[in-house]
Amino acid sequence: MGAGPSGLMSAHTLARLGYRNVTVFERNDRVGGKVHTFDGVVQAELGALLIFPDYEVVLGLADELGVPYLPDSQRKYILDENGALWEFQDFLRQRYDAEEIAVAMDNYAKALETFASVGASYTDLHPDLTLTFDAFVDKYDFEPVARLIRSRMVGFGFAYYEQVPAAYYMKIIGSLVQVGESELEAPPTVIFPLPKGFQALWEAVADPLDVRLNAEVTKISRAALPGGRPITVTINGQQELRFDRVIISAPLPSVADFLDVTDEERDLFERVRSNRFFVTVFAVLGLTNRDAWFFDANSSPDRINHVAVWTATSQRRVVSPNFAAPVFTAYQVAEWQATDAEVAEALRSDVSAAGGVVAEVLVQAEWPYFPHVGSDDLAAGFYDRVEALQGQLGTYYVGSGVSIETVEHAARYARDLVMTHFPDRNR
Ligand SMILES: Cc1cc2nc3c(=O)[nH]c(=O)nc-3n(C[C@H](O)[C@H](O)[C@H](O)COP(=O)(O)OP(=O)(O)OC[C@H]3O[C@@H](n4cnc5c(N)ncnc54)[C@H](O)[C@@H]3O)c2cc1C
Repeated sequence: MGAGPSGLMSAHTLARLGYRNVTVFERNDRVGGKVHTFDGVVQAELGALLIFPDYEVVLGLADELGVPYLPDSQRKYILDENGALWEFQDFLRQRYDAEEIAVAMDNYAKALETFASVGASYTDLHPDLTLTFDAFVDKYDFEPVARLIRSRMVGFGFAYYEQVPAAYYMKIIGSLVQVGESELEAPPTVIFPLPKGFQALWEAVADPLDVRLNAEVTKISRAALPGGRPITVTINGQQELRFDRVIISAPLPSVADFLDVTDEERDLFERVRSNRFFVTVFAVLGLTNRDAWFFDANSSPDRINHVAVWTATSQRRVVSPNFAAPVFTAYQVAEWQATDAEVAEALRSDVSAAGGVVAEVLVQAEWPYFPHVGSDDLAAGFYDRVEALQGQLGTYYVGSGVSIETVEHAARYARDLVMTHFPDRNR
């Protein structure tokens, strides 16, 4: 269930393995989940947009299905606490000397190598990966590298080094910053061009599959049935259907709302927390840049609600005559208790500090984002327990809650889970 990247990748892989009776239920009227290409007063990605070169599953699907993608040509800068903009390398050089950078690069490369296995799985986790990332960076001594990447981690919604266990960052940091011959490099990214955007890839994946839209799974019942099979799935509170197995890609904290959870499932899913992530597409006066700015000064917990990154939305179609003005997309991690007015005020103040004025908000999306657990739960083997659940009572879990919040990781985990647990029927 769920027609985001993980649900669709599960169904796509099952189809490849020769399974015919596979149905994907999606409560929205579109596929894609947190991949959402908006086409209204403006065209913009309200969810995922960037593809890194090591996204083998996503790029493999795009090649297989003939969905075009392009190198991302937008220039990316880091905005420092004094309002100055820096290119990736220069930000580092103006803060650290060559010796400090060389030592940090070396230590970072060693840490990536030592903890490479977290890229594939969180099971049997090394205890140091349960430290908060700032403590981990101190221990492995690569603070300059971590500082360079901090505004990107917050900009991508993963929030704060002081709060999030190192396992999560170490799983993805190698995609964001690599050790080159003599300097750190941010690998070039790829985008799916508007107007079709990133969602078109998931529409192409969904096309040959049996995907039911506007079909919310409201109940899954396994308990009364011996061995858990068949499983009864209720759609929109009305239609009951029977299946041998279910793959769940809904956010883990929501699973107890529709599944007859066991004590173990309930206990695990209650531990998961998420960030609140706003995406606001707005017309702005007084700013003319065509770039992406990562706000270094807003990448600590005391600056929650403020803009973590904004990008000039280069391809657009706007209908109001006001909009000779450039259109930007801003990303904000927000407090759960913040009001919409407070989030809007934080955006206005950041735009104003940069010399601009928000002329009009064109569209906004709010997402529960980056499901994760804290250091204690990680250390207590949260993911070992989740992995032990896979296949129990004919139930499997995929999605960002069991991998991490990127399209590639969600899709890769789903593909690997199906390949591991479902025998190939073509043989
Ligand atoms: C603003 C933003 C920017 C991002 N940028 C990037 C990026 O640049 N690069 C990148 O790799 N990733 C990015 N991501 C992350 C990426 O989009 C997600 O990690 C990915 O979409 C997760 O896939 P998923 O299948 O686990 O979940 P989702 O995409 O959330 O899909 C889950 C689906 O399940 C459906 N569902 C839930 N409950 C039910 C139910 N009861 N019945 C039926 N259907 C249900 C939902 O409607 C949804 O469609 C971004 C995300 C956001 C929000």
